[in-house]
Amino acid sequence: MYGNLSPNTEVPVTGRYKCEGCGGGALAEVFSMIGGQVPFAGALGATQRAKQQTFRNFTKGERFTHCPNCMVPGSSSSFTGWTLVEAECEKCSGKGYLADCKTCQGTGRVGCDCDHGKTPCEECKSTGETKCHACAGAGKKTFLFGLLKPTCATCHGTGSVDHATCKGTGKLDHVKCKGKGDTQCAECSGRGRVDRCSACSGTGKISE
Ligand SMILES: [Zn+2]
Ligand SMILES: [Zn+2]
Ligand SMILES: [Zn+2]
Ligand SMILES: [Zn+2]
Ligand SMILES: [Zn+2]
Ligand SMILES: [Zn+2]
Repeated sequence: MYGNLSPNTEVPVTGRYKCEGCGGGALAEVFSMIGGQVPFAGALGATQRAKQQTFRNFTKGERFTHCPNCMVPGSSSSFTGWTLVEAECEKCSGKGYLADCKTCQGTGRVGCDCDHGKTPCEECKSTGETKCHACAGAGKKTFLFGLLKPTCATCHGTGSVDHATCKGTGKLDHVKCKGKGDTQCAECSGRGRVDRCSACSGTGKISE
């Protein structure tokens, strides 16, 4: 549809273009015509480059650039000619879908019904503490008929220690969301989008 367009002309549609000048195109022809001779300074290696095809993405409305592969050394002209290979789907602007999922606003995740990924630790009743085993919660060590009562070194006299299971926080990671606080959106299976574009079969690209 769009073939061999020159540098500095306006890009007609957003998409992927290939340069006709290289990859066996105009540049390679010039070199074969002159029998592999190097006609200008700095052209060494250009014959090799001429065999490579250049691909570039251009956006509608901008100007085509010169193909770096096809520049004539020492000049500002080139053998560039851009041909459209794959256009961006105009219906979905290349996204492949028409709308974000409303349930998750396109993030693919929805909030969990827990408290920011946490649930209360039932074992310690959310206190984060358990009775100190060393002093049975008394806060003091009792020896010899209760005559000597030094402060319990394990709980420093408080009678309680951090609950190991919840690390003293009184909360546990919610199993359902693994403590993340959100879960995959069921509405869109976590993709964040709905309404696949039929014009491009969801690829966002239209091949020529
Ligand atoms: Zn080129
Ligand atoms: Zn969703
Ligand atoms: Zn606990
Ligand atoms: Zn203690
Ligand atoms: Zn949760
Ligand atoms: Zn599309």
